[in-house]
Amino acid sequence: MAFQVIVDSEKCKGCEDCLEACTVNVFEMREGKSIPVHEEECIGCRSCMEVCKEKAITVEELQPKMSETARFLLREILRD
Ligand code: SF4
Ligand code: SF4
Repeated sequence: MAFQVIVDSEKCKGCEDCLEACTVNVFEMREGKSIPVHEEECIGCRSCMEVCKEKAITVEELQPKMSETARFLLREILRD
């Protein structure tokens, strides 16, 4: 499962609470703002969203996209 982590830099006040909350070190501070530099490590626990008082963080589960070939095969299988 993959997750998309977004920090609204307009809202971020640079408190670093999300850095402390994230056990897999997704965030780094750059120029006083939190940036999700290791988004691929995210396990979707949403602790960062809970601790951010500014409500600057959004974590969304990415839905895997089905290829055209997989879609075709699935249609063929379901047809029988
Ligand atoms: S917890 Fe929120 S306000 Fe604090 S650094 Fe992280 S994103 Fe910014
Ligand atoms: S959801 Fe959890 S793992 Fe993902 S960035 Fe936030 S604290 Fe880290």
